[in-house]
Amino acid sequence: MAAKYVYDFVEGNKDLKDLLGGKGANLAEMTRLGLPVPPGFTISTDACRAYLSTGDVPAGLFAEVADHLHRLETQMGRTLGDPDDPLLLSVRSGAKFSMPGMMETVLDIGLNDTSVHGLAAHAGDVRFAWDSYRRLIQMFGRTVFDVPGEEFEAALTAEKALRDATADTDLDDAALRHLVDVYKKVFQTHTGREFPQSPHEQLRLAVQAVFRSWNAERAVVYRRQERIPADLGTAVNVMAMVFGNLGEDSGTGVAFTRDPATGARGVYGDYLENAQGEDVVAGIRNTMPLSQLATVDRRSYDRLLELMARLEKHYRDLCDIEFTIERGTLWMLQTRVGKRTPAAAFVIANQLVDEGLIDLDEALRRVTGRQLTTLMFPTFDPAATPKALARGVPASPGAAVGRAVFDSARAAAATGPVILVRRETNPDDLPGMITAQGILTSRGGKTSHAAVVARGMGRTCVCGADAIDIDGDSFRVGDTVVREGDVISIDGATGDVYVGSVPVRPSRVARYLDGTIKAGEDPLLRAVGRLLAHADARRRLGVHANADTGDDAARARRLGATGVGLCRTEHMFLGERRPLVERLILATSDEERQAALDALLLLQRKDFIEILSAMDGLPVTIRLLDPPLHEFLPPLTELAVRVARAEERGEDPGADATMLAAVQRMHEENPMLGLRGVRLGLVVPGLFAMQVRAIAEAAAQVRADGGDPRPEIMVPLIGSVQELEVVRAEIEQVLSTVDGGRSARIGTMIEVPRAALTAGEIAPVAEFFSFGTNDLTQMGWGFSRDDVESAFFSRYLELGIFGVSPFESIDATGIGRLIRIAVDEGRAANPGLTIGVCGEHGGDPDSVHFFDEVGLDYVSCSPYRVPVARLEAGRAAV
Ligand code: PEP
Ligand code: MG
Repeated sequence: MAAKYVYDFVEGNKDLKDLLGGKGANLAEMTRLGLPVPPGFTISTDACRAYLSTGDVPAGLFAEVADHLHRLETQMGRTLGDPDDPLLLSVRSGAKFSMPGMMETVLDIGLNDTSVHGLAAHAGDVRFAWDSYRRLIQMFGRTVFDVPGEEFEAALTAEKALRDATADTDLDDAALRHLVDVYKKVFQTHTGREFPQSPHEQLRLAVQAVFRSWNAERAVVYRRQERIPADLGTAVNVMAMVFGNLGEDSGTGVAFTRDPATGARGVYGDYLENAQGEDVVAGIRNTMPLSQLATVDRRSYDRLLELMARLEKHYRDLCDIEFTIERGTLWMLQTRVGKRTPAAAFVIANQLVDEGLIDLDEALRRVTGRQLTTLMFPTFDPAATPKALARGVPASPGAAVGRAVFDSARAAAATGPVILVRRETNPDDLPGMITAQGILTSRGGKTSHAAVVARGMGRTCVCGADAIDIDGDSFRVGDTVVREGDVISIDGATGDVYVGSVPVRPSRVARYLDGTIKAGEDPLLRAVGRLLAHADARRRLGVHANADTGDDAARARRLGATGVGLCRTEHMFLGERRPLVERLILATSDEERQAALDALLLLQRKDFIEILSAMDGLPVTIRLLDPPLHEFLPPLTELAVRVARAEERGEDPGADATMLAAVQRMHEENPMLGLRGVRLGLVVPGLFAMQVRAIAEAAAQVRADGGDPRPEIMVPLIGSVQELEVVRAEIEQVLSTVDGGRSARIGTMIEVPRAALTAGEIAPVAEFFSFGTNDLTQMGWGFSRDDVESAFFSRYLELGIFGVSPFESIDATGIGRLIRIAVDEGRAANPGLTIGVCGEHGGDPDSVHFFDEVGLDYVSCSPYRVPVARLEAGRAAV
């Protein structure tokens, strides 16, 4: 049997989107429901794919089209090209996923020098007929033969000038008849041929043009952005034309069954009298609110409302609709489940549960973690947002406004809101990052220091804005110079940077989730609360938080975390404690080293008491020190210059010289692959022992105060079981000496590929694994997490080597394979093993689904991402 490419609207249904595209499937569904849809048929995406792969329409396609057209003609009682009463057709694209305005449409197919008179006679409106004809030549020329649209626009403007007309509608039939002649000449000049008079040829060419528009540049760019597969192709919908431009009793409009901005129930949309759909889009005339249609044409309005209610009930969701009224008769031209804002998504899902249309599982499937993320951060008021000065990587969401400060210490000391602006940040910048409203860097990507720390603290961050050229205490973008103290605004959701102060709206959702305000009657907060509670009831995955202070841990708990999955102890060594670390590194005798360790022990113990108390009764995974020690020392070049200057002046560089020698001694070309993690513990005597003692003593203290501390000790960066064995023995030895020898759970991070590949050997020595997916990605791909995102990821994304940065969303195929191996072999060797993840991926919606699928016990993420992870873990389970 020959392949079937064409389907009458009566043959399809809403579930055939792959074959018929979204528009075609929904037109078929409305037809099936008996709604007033002009008759027509859909040419399938199969035909488009065949055309795109061979450059020609598949054999038999137009014969099939002719059959369906014949049926359409019979149904309408009109024939394409009939000189007396012609049938006119619209030809519209419609892919599986909506790609608004990206592909092509041609209306009024079937008009030519003869049938235009027939249309005029039949419609009783000569002007209308000539206006339709000129629209056809214009759309057909642009779409099928790439005639520049401006040429037609220029001709139209000239005609208006000639006739002293201001609006298109002021042109009478004689003017339009003349315009048709001019348009035909424009067409001929550009194509070298006459405007086709055969309606069947018009149809054939228009169908092929719609096929080709799948690969139009803007469509390709849009698909890449929206992650729509490039090989789906579009369907083509051929439908009998109905006219909204046949006078005052005609018109066209769009309608939403609920408010797509807030989700509120009601009648939303726009209507334009005496117009075709393209006039609404072009914004030539002002539309009226849909509710006003009630006064203009009550019968059509009531009928529309009735059909909208039916559609919503049928689709069990917000629908948007395009309709036309032709001389008092309502026609439905399109419907689909409508796009909506994140707030509306939550509100509507919740309303539909109340209305009994969907259950809570379905409601949960209809909202996303990404939507919740957007809702949790303050935003700029869109009505008051100027043009952006530059754009960087949107690293940590939110909207921040403040004075630009180019130095961390000055930012820390500043009064009033500031934005810390740095080329990149390092641990030294922490004090300034804590005080700042937002952080802006010109280098680095989503896992740069600035991004990771900012996300952890819930600070807005835009990084890698490479258009900004920082020079000392100012930066420049083109001719604009921003100096220290000038106010700037940064949008962490889009990466946009603005000069001046853009008005900010705080997030009610964030305040509600951390307990600052109650939901009350607020429909959005009630919806968020209810859906999160349902996610909690459904999810299998635990959600822990990455928290380094008592405050962070308490906040994480308020946001729903049931444990700390990663406490990075190096963050506790910064600020005023740095000199103590310097003393430890520079110690030349055991006594000096011990004195430095003793001082650090007291401080660490205090930190741990705070965290363990905030997470009382819940696990707190404390990681022993990880980063290279030189991060705690002054920069090599700065120090070398100081020493050289002192020597030049004949002065004794004193402590600087000792420091320089130490820094030189410890200098590493690749510190991320150097003396970090467990390696540090193995070579710096007493360091891990001090940390373990601080943990054990802190736990003892909390217990003595009546608490229930659950510390877990985590060893970073191991690559072999032997490393863990040595450190584990040391940890157990220390634990045996504190608080009557109480034990704590001991586990390790899996973040070096070799650790993942030998998980079966490691698991018997560990009570838990936690995947450090930042390092696992860095070492698995061989991508430096601090450099590559701004260096070449944009090119990689452009080339489609990956669709999203592997530092943002877990690379399930490659790095995910390492994870699967480690989970399977780890559990086989030690069935009691607890397994979690604490890399940045732990709070990424797509990655959460992957971690659920591979059977992890929990994910751990920044406190502010905890609700998002809860929601996605719930979604993964329904
Ligand atoms: C990781 O590597 O994923 C991790 C959590 O550790 P860090 O980011 O501190 O290296
Ligand atoms: Mg790591």
